[in-house]
Amino acid sequence: MATAILAPGKEQRVFSGHPWVFRSDISYVKGSCKPGEVVRVESAKHRFLAMAVYNPNSQIALRILSHHDEKIDSDFIHARVHRALEYRRSFADLQSCRLIFAESDGLPAVIADQFGSVISLQCLCLGMEQFKQDICDALEEELHPIGIYERNDVPVRELEGMEQMTGLLHGTVPDIVEMRENGIRFGVDVKNGQKTGFFLDQKENRAAMAPFVKGKRVLDCFSHTGPFALHAAKYGAAEVIGVDISEYACQCAAQNAKLNGFTNVGFVAANAFDYLKEKSMTDEKFDVVILDPPAFTKTRQAVDGATRGYKEINLRGIKLLKDGGYLITCSCSQHMLPEPFKQVVLDAAKDCHARLMQVEYRTQGRDHPILPAAPETQYLKCGIYRVEQSSII
Ligand code: SAH
Repeated sequence: MATAILAPGKEQRVFSGHPWVFRSDISYVKGSCKPGEVVRVESAKHRFLAMAVYNPNSQIALRILSHHDEKIDSDFIHARVHRALEYRRSFADLQSCRLIFAESDGLPAVIADQFGSVISLQCLCLGMEQFKQDICDALEEELHPIGIYERNDVPVRELEGMEQMTGLLHGTVPDIVEMRENGIRFGVDVKNGQKTGFFLDQKENRAAMAPFVKGKRVLDCFSHTGPFALHAAKYGAAEVIGVDISEYACQCAAQNAKLNGFTNVGFVAANAFDYLKEKSMTDEKFDVVILDPPAFTKTRQAVDGATRGYKEINLRGIKLLKDGGYLITCSCSQHMLPEPFKQVVLDAAKDCHARLMQVEYRTQGRDHPILPAAPETQYLKCGIYRVEQSSII
């Protein structure tokens, strides 16, 4: 087995518990190895640091699997999958759950989501691709899903020198799988839906809006297949409108509303920026506005542009609220950090002379655990604010 020797001082990051080593932090590799293989990692003074998968073609050249000098084989992967499930079994409904959250679960760049009896799997680094079958076998043994489907149609795979692909890995997968989230029924399109098919990370945030929507008029922007909108309906909203640019997402959302017998929820296929702008020119008001856009930036360099996007929708969202209404505003971009995001929302409120009361400032669900040693693992922000118009104070 080859050994990657780090440049002097670069072992500190490994000691701090961060699971990545950048290509520029490697001094040299002793012995021959193919991209994607497991290597030993040593400091410049040849102290053993970790076992990792190595990909010289990726900026993240080493992804650490273990800090012990141990064999990385099928048993190792099975034990990791078991551990990830053991954690979730204590609090989660595994039928609507992120089973594996990559680095946080010690399985770098691997994502597994369970929807009903089907698992949707992503393997986004070359090193873990070779363990894909082991991961599938372990999931199969532990959970007995009727099918496992691969959703590796993600561009980052190309940065790792891999092709994008989708397909069946095990069993059978129906076109639409049914699952429940917080007691609400959803059809999930595991084969063609966005990302793995459904956004599980907001599950607890959706439940958190329960006290604020009863009897209210709710606008859910970037509604996808309707989970926020349907939660609002379940918690007693009088009327709910969802807006999403994807016609297909809106069709699925309407279907999901029907599945639950909600008749006061409607979906509009539109660009939310335009929709918010048009509404803000009318007298129409809402009691609750939800903003859960896609990541406006995927790089640190594009944060400024993203900030403008977040500010615009928050400004328009706040303007549409009645006095004492609630803004539920989210950002899933890892590069938009929690404090700067708060500032964007505050700036938007200031521009329209509204006063914000922070009710809660939340993050991703517990099945997407955050590693304090690797801040990149926290990506979701979800602020719930009460909005006072033309401030009384
Ligand atoms: N709120 C959803 C997740 C949203 S993901 C949930 O809880 O599951 C982001 C959604 O925004 C996607 O469904 C995507 O189709 C939609 N979208 C992207 N750009 C948009 C735009 N400009 N206007 C409206 N919707 C948009």
